[in-house]
Amino acid sequence: MRHRSLSISLLFTLSCFASPALLAEESDENGEPVEIQEPAETVPEQSQEGEPLQEGAQLESSDQPEKPMPKAKSIELDKPVSEQELVAPPQTDDTETGTEAAPETAAEQAATEVPKPEKPVGHPLQLLGSEVPSATSTRLAWSPSQHFEGVYSATPVLVVNGAEAGPTLCLFAAIHGDELNGIETVRRVMYNLNPKTLKGAVIGVPIVNLQGFHRGSRYLTDRRDLNRHFPGHNQGSSASRIARSFFDEVVTHCNAIVDLHTGSFYRTNLPQLRGDLKNPKVVKLTKGFGSTVVLHSDGAKGTLRRAAVEAGIPTVTLEAGAPMVLDEPSVSHSVKGIRTLLNQLGMVSKFRLWGDPEPVYYNSTWQRATTGGIIFSKVQLGESVSKGDLLGTVTNPITNVRTEIRSQYNGRILGMAMNQVVQPGFAAYHIGIQAPEEQIPAPEEVTAEAEPAPVEADNTTTGESPMEEVNENARESHDETPLNSGDEPSTDYDEDREED
Ligand SMILES: [Zn+2]
Repeated sequence: MRHRSLSISLLFTLSCFASPALLAEESDENGEPVEIQEPAETVPEQSQEGEPLQEGAQLESSDQPEKPMPKAKSIELDKPVSEQELVAPPQTDDTETGTEAAPETAAEQAATEVPKPEKPVGHPLQLLGSEVPSATSTRLAWSPSQHFEGVYSATPVLVVNGAEAGPTLCLFAAIHGDELNGIETVRRVMYNLNPKTLKGAVIGVPIVNLQGFHRGSRYLTDRRDLNRHFPGHNQGSSASRIARSFFDEVVTHCNAIVDLHTGSFYRTNLPQLRGDLKNPKVVKLTKGFGSTVVLHSDGAKGTLRRAAVEAGIPTVTLEAGAPMVLDEPSVSHSVKGIRTLLNQLGMVSKFRLWGDPEPVYYNSTWQRATTGGIIFSKVQLGESVSKGDLLGTVTNPITNVRTEIRSQYNGRILGMAMNQVVQPGFAAYHIGIQAPEEQIPAPEEVTAEAEPAPVEADNTTTGESPMEEVNENARESHDETPLNSGDEPSTDYDEDREED
């Protein structure tokens, strides 16, 4: 009934023939082998009806075609709405087909001249109990199926369903509720899309962790990190259930995902992509962003990125800036990168390609403060450093003893602490180390590098105890798994991960 899968296949099949051996197996954080799906087995290509991403999803609606979904009302996404409208998103019947969907800015009026009469026509998108007709935009709502903690605000889910067939790209932000740059990035990208000219669909969730956002916290209200509980479990902890709901109701509808983050705990990141570069589909996705640094990382267990990739959906993290603040350069870079990706995926034609590719870092390491005190940096984000260079100083305000932090590596500052008071051991400078691609180790070596993760319970199969969760949050958990690139230092890397 649909032809979307064909175009998806074309988009993602090109890279599927590269390095299949690297895909065969990798290890999770406990050293247990984890099957990575071969591209041929991944969800989008496999669907027989051309309905992408049904496998593994709990999409009751699509299994019951006899019960038609209400059509989502076509709206102008950038038009302000009342909070009442957000609580109960308007739905409409067939009389409204969304012909007035698009904001008519001058740029978009120009873009409307692009489509020609005979093109593969778009398809309705079924999501969150509604059907979004092609060539329309709408705002849906996702809320986890639990309300115990009281009033549960529905999380807006913005959808632009194009007039022509194409992939479904998903943009998620604020899984950590204090990471603001991604919220603004998703807003700018979504509100600038024209459903009349878009090929495929874009689903944008500006604030996944609305609980944390309202409190200015990266965590959920129970102090759990939502981004350590994907894909989640219906019978697990609160966080695990929220993750499962989001995964089933939104994530499984995506053909590719960009998950937006910032540094954590007063650290800031150079705009950078993180992805599992052992996965050819992820590599292909990273190449769509134009002039953006890429850092290899398979992602900690429980991250949305890792869970989605394991479900066959190529996913990257886009890191930019610091938590709690909005900074224009980070947002602008992110918007530009995503628009370039939309162009590269063939979904839009009006955005220009962007710049020369930035280096890919297959390895990275953190340099930590060795003493406590006030840290002042001498380097800036993106700066190249050599072994021995002064990165910053830590001054004890009580004793006035000053300690220098000097680079132990040749590399580039991909992330760094903002000036603040630090404890000994605080991860201060994230240094990307370039290494030839052929130095990427075999999967077995990655196993050796993987963190044991003693308390990060696998909540996809077991419910975790609250005490384990508290321990998890009390200790430093980690988001990155630097690869051993042969000659580069590696023995310290077990401890060398920080969450972002
Ligand atoms: Zn984050």
